[in-house]
Amino acid sequence: MVCVKCGKKTAVVNSRLQKKLNTVWRRRFCNKCQLIFTTEEAIKYDLVILVKDKSDKYLPFSRDKLFLSIYKSCSHRRSAIEDSNALTNTVIARLLQEQATLTVILSKDIKQACLVTLNRFDKSVANIYQAYH
Ligand SMILES: [Zn+2]
Repeated sequence: MVCVKCGKKTAVVNSRLQKKLNTVWRRRFCNKCQLIFTTEEAIKYDLVILVKDKSDKYLPFSRDKLFLSIYKSCSHRRSAIEDSNALTNTVIARLLQEQATLTVILSKDIKQACLVTLNRFDKSVANIYQAYH
């Protein structure tokens, strides 16, 4: 990966597997301008999972869409972005554990996984989510 500031080659100076999220975190260093930045390697779920919606349409799974739906329910909280990010990861982990095959997930199963997760987190957030869906 090239430097975000000067475009020259960078070196990985530290790397860590985040087992729970199945992501790899890397600290990079630019030898030219000495900028230090972090990257994260994560699965592109849209290429692995299809979502079947109420009208039997198939759509690529979107982590961003899931994040936004959770964020809408959390937006009254001070830590809405951090909470929504963590909750999104929890919902995805739950979906991955519950699904026998990963090729197709029903949209109602995503909604159910969200409700279970949000209810454990904060009942008012779960109620707002349910009102939207
Ligand atoms: Zn640079």
